[in-house]
Amino acid sequence: MIGTCLCRRVKVAVVGQPGHINICNCAYCRKAGHAAGLFPESAVEVCGETRSYVRDDMADPWMTLHFCPTCGSATHSTGTPEHPCDVVRVNVRLFDLGAVADVEARFLDGDAVKSENDPFPLIATAKYGHGTTF
Ligand SMILES: [Zn+2]
Ligand SMILES: [Zn+2]
Repeated sequence: MIGTCLCRRVKVAVVGQPGHINICNCAYCRKAGHAAGLFPESAVEVCGETRSYVRDDMADPWMTLHFCPTCGSATHSTGTPEHPCDVVRVNVRLFDLGAVADVEARFLDGDAVKSENDPFPLIATAKYGHGTTF
């Protein structure tokens, strides 16, 4: 399936559906508007120009936020050079709502997490795309 940013200049194509979607209350996810579906790198293709941002308010950030430079939509997240990761966190908000309906949404207390190795406490689960998660 293929998702797009708001202005449609960036397209993100993925193979299959994410096993689950992380909806997290940390500053990164809230401020970027990121609802993360996890995919292996090999299952994701990004077309179009993106820019990236690594938090400069953390001593050792482990995520790189990619976004459309025209409309500002967050498109996906990857690791950093210091913290490589073979998983791409695609912002499932790029897809039509029905495209990821019924995938499990996991609400995470990421705000409590202080390092990449800490567990993300699970607060609740729901099915994505049924009026409770968007
Ligand atoms: Zn855009
Ligand atoms: Zn988060």
